[in-house]
Amino acid sequence: MKLEGLHHVTMVTADAQRTVDFYAGVLGLRLVKTTVNFDQPDAYHLYFGDERGAPGSILTWFEFAGARRGRAGAGMVHRIQLAVPTVEALERWGHRLQDRGIPVQGGPAGLVTEDPDGLEIELLVHDIGEQLTATHPDIPAADAICGIVGVRAFSADPEATALVLTDLLGFGREPVEGESREWTAFGPRQHVHWTLDPAPSAPGVPGAGTVHHIAWASRDEDHEAWRTRMVDAGATVTPVIDRDYFDAIYFREPGGVLFEIATVGPGFATDEDAAHLGEELRLPTQHEPRRAELAGVLTPIVHPRTGQPVSFDAP
Ligand code: ZN
Repeated sequence: MKLEGLHHVTMVTADAQRTVDFYAGVLGLRLVKTTVNFDQPDAYHLYFGDERGAPGSILTWFEFAGARRGRAGAGMVHRIQLAVPTVEALERWGHRLQDRGIPVQGGPAGLVTEDPDGLEIELLVHDIGEQLTATHPDIPAADAICGIVGVRAFSADPEATALVLTDLLGFGREPVEGESREWTAFGPRQHVHWTLDPAPSAPGVPGAGTVHHIAWASRDEDHEAWRTRMVDAGATVTPVIDRDYFDAIYFREPGGVLFEIATVGPGFATDEDAAHLGEELRLPTQHEPRRAELAGVLTPIVHPRTGQPVSFDAP
């Protein structure tokens, strides 16, 4: 049994529209679902990804409007790595960001920037296996971001984290010079990298610009077996939770990062047309009776493709 790769990475933002403007407007991802945090429905849950929101392309945000900036510490992911196809594309990304006044650092193999909440984003020339791209009127197809390479994290217990990655999740260890350590999982469709950096001494602070959890992708038919494997290993694992667009289980790895394993199916075109993903607020069935109340609380956002406000009306 192998993981397919990454499913999604979920962050916290203080400002939904600013996040839309950066990830869809500047980085060219597609806003594929406008919904709420199923466990706290007065907060948005926005999903961005490739054209269909394929696992391995998906970055998501909970919006806690006006939340204070957090800071990554031990037990937290501190950088998201996104793939670009060529060195030439990377160079053009450097110009694209700088032209918008967004500072970038780095060299020919990768560049690092920050999103508006202060989260580190690294663009790397990398082939993850599948090409998971979205279309954007200003970004040539040859330059488009083509999936999530992986993440860099700080562990509160690197040895224990390593055992979960290798013995339970099937990652292989990669030799790296210096103090960082890297693991790679090769799935049938993608491979994904997990890098541990030495944790800073200052404790982490949850908040805007921090990563909430990492979701690995499982084949639908393997999902229950993944849960059994984690339970048998002594992990405290949630029951299978229906997230409408995938099924999910959650557990915290011993180094402190919240892990999820999510199914590939059914995907985002289950409750709206694939041509109009994210253009209207979608609520899970259990929160649909609260639509009017939630519409009064959620900040209106403009959909980047239509240029129109996301509709809060019932479908
Ligand atoms: Zn998740």
